[in-house]
Amino acid sequence: MPIACWTPKQAVIITSKAPAPRPAGGSLWRLFRVYFKPHLGWFLLGTLFAVLTAGFANGYAGILAFVGNRIQTSIQTPGSEAGWVVWAALGIVGLASGRALSLYLMTIINNTGVQRALVDVQSAQFDSLSDGDYARMVADSSGGFVSRFINDVNAIRDAGLRFANNFTKSVVTVLGALGIMLYLDWRLSLILLVAYPLAFGPVIALGNRVRQRAKTAQRQVGEVTSLLSEGFQGARVVKAYGLEAYQKARARRGFLERSRLFLKVLTDRAAVDPILEVTGGVALAGILGVSAWQIAQGGSSLGDLLGIIAAIGIAAPELRALGTLNAVAQEGGGAADRVFEILDGLPTVCDQDDAVDVETVQGEIRFQDVHFSYPDGTEVLRGVSFTVKPGETIALVGPSGAGKSTVFNLLLRLYDVDSGEICLDGHPVPTLRATSLRRAMALVAQDAALFDDTIGANIALGRLGAGPDEVAAAAAAANAEEFISALPGGYDAPAGEAGRNLSGGQRQRVALARAILRNARILLLDEATSALDAESEARVQAALSGLMRDRTSLIIAHRLSTVRTADRILVMQDGRIVEAGRHDELMASDGLYKRLVLLQLS
Ligand code: ATP
Repeated sequence: MPIACWTPKQAVIITSKAPAPRPAGGSLWRLFRVYFKPHLGWFLLGTLFAVLTAGFANGYAGILAFVGNRIQTSIQTPGSEAGWVVWAALGIVGLASGRALSLYLMTIINNTGVQRALVDVQSAQFDSLSDGDYARMVADSSGGFVSRFINDVNAIRDAGLRFANNFTKSVVTVLGALGIMLYLDWRLSLILLVAYPLAFGPVIALGNRVRQRAKTAQRQVGEVTSLLSEGFQGARVVKAYGLEAYQKARARRGFLERSRLFLKVLTDRAAVDPILEVTGGVALAGILGVSAWQIAQGGSSLGDLLGIIAAIGIAAPELRALGTLNAVAQEGGGAADRVFEILDGLPTVCDQDDAVDVETVQGEIRFQDVHFSYPDGTEVLRGVSFTVKPGETIALVGPSGAGKSTVFNLLLRLYDVDSGEICLDGHPVPTLRATSLRRAMALVAQDAALFDDTIGANIALGRLGAGPDEVAAAAAAANAEEFISALPGGYDAPAGEAGRNLSGGQRQRVALARAILRNARILLLDEATSALDAESEARVQAALSGLMRDRTSLIIAHRLSTVRTADRILVMQDGRIVEAGRHDELMASDGLYKRLVLLQLS
């Protein structure tokens, strides 16, 4: 499916004015149209059972009116026929059974519809992030994203389930009860019709406040999630540095803030029930007073009174449910806003309409006066120009922060340049389809980036569909076969989360095997052998030199001994290339490279 994309002009328009405020409930309605409507069949069936549930509930009021009138007759005419008692009892049991079954079916059916819709919402969020800008992925904290997938979706789930399970049932029950009351005594019903609407104003105002507060609370959940995952991932450093107290204090501050924000939401939410309780109490008192007076005047019957009280008893909890539904819906609406923040974020780095696939790659790379700043505005590359001929091995060296990894990021087109041009085989990279551009390259990064799957599967990610023999051959070339075979389960051994079952060097060899399997024309090695011991590195370097022979290779390495054999070394400093040449030439020129080499030797 083609991905919509901001053109730079649109981006300017978008950023030049503040976004229009969203109408309350707009996001929920949109969520319903796009993600819930495809599952409408479930909700219609659920609605059918909701109507049945409401009908059975109101049946109680009818039976009680009948019982009341019969009791009144029995009191007035002692010894009259009492067979109606059995029918009334059977009727009540029948209503209870019918209501129980329809309630059960309604809940199951609606839950199924909501769960299916939520799978679509979560998938759409993840698709949007995966297809979107890399910059957006690294801009938010991992906790922020986790919160959107778990907590926001939970809030939407609550709202969806409450709507599906309560809305129709409550509305139909209340309307039915009102109908019964109007039928039995319309004057008494008027009291209710006046009392409840008076309570709606404060209830709606509370709902709106809940929405704002819930949004802030959800955002903070993201921060707590980040804090927790940082704490667990950094457990080794925490222990080694004795930082437990520091971490515990940070966590407690996060939990306290969380409870403070949620308490505000819960306090607002808790006020809804009492408002409706008092309203119901006032209405009931009014009805009892008026009807007792009417019965005393002979203008009403005991049956009518019982029926009306039963109808109030049936309608009151449903009215309360409708009252709290607003607050839950507002919370869901806040979460839906956040979901759409992700879904509406169009990528800025995307394929041009006339972008072409890279067919056969020669492997020539050219940077022409490239300037680049990250989204925070810091200029990182300041006029970088170089050309790499097909099959050449180029090393990028220089102090930390000089911009070496940024060169790789731009070559992979994770970002677009501010000015200048990057070409592959003479084609500017924006004219090439990004997926095919990236397919021409194999990246091995310092962090290895293993996934929580088997080791074999991690290697096979280099070329999806590769067979076990190809995986084994790639592992052998990366000097990884020996340690993999020694693991219980071999290639089927789990790598663990982020590859934590393996040592740093083993992780790098698995990542190298993955790159070897990819068999791409261009190799990008970003500190790819930094975690290897001297012996492994020598063996992997041997494998790599075989691999690099027919390929264009760009190597970033701090350990300068590993780049001596490169065809050319580009020395970077402060976003510029300050020296270029072979090792011997640079050592002869008495510049930054020589200083760095001597520093390492010393
Ligand atoms: P090292 O050798 O330490 O890996 P490097 O030469 O590869 O450094 P880069 O990673 O390219 O340097 O970073 C260059 C500059 O860009 C640094 O100042 C860094 O802080 C900044 N930078 C890198 N990534 C981002 C980012 N995603 N957002 C903002 N600034 C970034």
